[in-house]
Amino acid sequence: QADVAAPVFDNSYSHLPDRFFTRPGANTVSAPKLIRINRPLAAQLGLSADWLESSDGIAMLAGNSFPAGAEPVALAYAGHQFGNFVPQLGDGRALLVGEIIDTLGKRRDLQLKGSGRTLFSRGGDGRAAVGPVLREYVVSEAMAALGIPTTHTLAAVLTGETVYRETPLPGAVLTRVAASHIRIGTFQYFAAREDLEAIRLLADHAIGRHFPDLAKCDQPYLALLERVTALQADLVARWMLVGFIHGVMNTDNMTISGETIDYGPCAFMDEYDPAKVFSSIDRQGRYAYANQPGIAVWNLARFAETLLPIIHEDQDEAVRFAEEALKRFQATHDKTFHRGWRRKLGLLAEQEGDLQLIGDLLRIMARNRADFLLTFRGLAREIEGTAGDSGVRRLFADSKEFDDWATRWRLRLAEESAFPAERREVMLSTNPRYIPRNHRIEAVIKAAVEGADFRPFEELLDVVVRPFDEQPERSDYALPPREDERVLQTFCGT
Ligand code: AMP
Ligand code: MG
Ligand code: MG
Repeated sequence: QADVAAPVFDNSYSHLPDRFFTRPGANTVSAPKLIRINRPLAAQLGLSADWLESSDGIAMLAGNSFPAGAEPVALAYAGHQFGNFVPQLGDGRALLVGEIIDTLGKRRDLQLKGSGRTLFSRGGDGRAAVGPVLREYVVSEAMAALGIPTTHTLAAVLTGETVYRETPLPGAVLTRVAASHIRIGTFQYFAAREDLEAIRLLADHAIGRHFPDLAKCDQPYLALLERVTALQADLVARWMLVGFIHGVMNTDNMTISGETIDYGPCAFMDEYDPAKVFSSIDRQGRYAYANQPGIAVWNLARFAETLLPIIHEDQDEAVRFAEEALKRFQATHDKTFHRGWRRKLGLLAEQEGDLQLIGDLLRIMARNRADFLLTFRGLAREIEGTAGDSGVRRLFADSKEFDDWATRWRLRLAEESAFPAERREVMLSTNPRYIPRNHRIEAVIKAAVEGADFRPFEELLDVVVRPFDEQPERSDYALPPREDERVLQTFCGT
């Protein structure tokens, strides 16, 4: 019966001191029902999909009961929300069920989102509505398929209960899989309490878990700051390259592992606009597309502050080291960013003037509100000759602007000896054809909420986990919204 066995847990976080978390009491829902299991992920995790689909499995995925070895805890953390420090946030609607070792030997957290109240819930109900659960499922798996570090979604279940937002909505629980749930805000929680012992314990835990090679460094905590800075710099650059806007880059939503986390009012851009904001709660545009790298640095500076006391006894020295570490953000970011843009244009070697060429394209895209995905995917088809009016130029109101740019692009391409086929291959594996466009996500949510119909969800998910495949039978998913389908705002993931 090994193939229907319950998960085997190997917990480490819940063995840290009690002040790192709380242990919630029972919190059951009436009629849990499976929406979907991520079978490929279950296999990677060494979990039995058959067990997950059994009544015991669904009970776990809904937070009703847990198999032996699970040690459900709600994690303590703090965070800067839109720039304002909140000394206690914590898992108010989430529960770490336990940790498992996946088939590659990697430790992964199994976390429920929407499983009920905890001591950190404040005024909230601890629940999630089905809409945000489906959004996180689709977007996290799309990000993973795009090769961007992210938490994953193992499952979504309905609770059989109603949650009340502006309207009554079906309740649901998402099972999130993460390298860990340690956030910048976790460090801030202890820093706010001047709990140096906890900061050291947490830093040692994070190093042991994510960066064991750093344990032997002369200055392991400085090395931790450097490593997290590098991971976040690379991560945000990757977001930028696919037009992803996280939406709530609060310090509690930034992981130490370098995975994208907390898909709330996030979105991919349709037409290119560097000032784009979707989140209904981001009125100042703090987390606009083009601000994301700068915000990441700001968040990392908050992380650095928590580490100062353990970086060096002399705080002036510690500050000097930390500033040096943060300064390296730009170079790491630019490396991923510039290489990525070049590949998006099919430029395989580096030349002076490339950044100008890229920047000029982005400027005319912004002026002409050109669709981000269609532009770059379309360029791949123009490698062997211009597609004329059926090609990329039709995306630009002022097609002469595009033609002038394309002439410069072709001249630049001619300076490299790469075969067109090779170049096209790079472009087609760099520029996705499918991302979960907002209007598609909205349609998925509407069908689920209004008609209990999950087929659109299944279909969208199946399309976006193969983002680079042509999928001719699904070509309508590649299209931007019609005027009446446009989604202007996304709402917080509650
Ligand atoms: P998030 O929007 O997921 O980044 O959450 C920010 C904070 O609000 C975290 O401490 C959450 O646990 C808490 N929170 C969000 N929604 C709820 C809810 N429905 N009930 C309780 N706490 C919540
Ligand atoms: Mg949360
Ligand atoms: Mg959060």
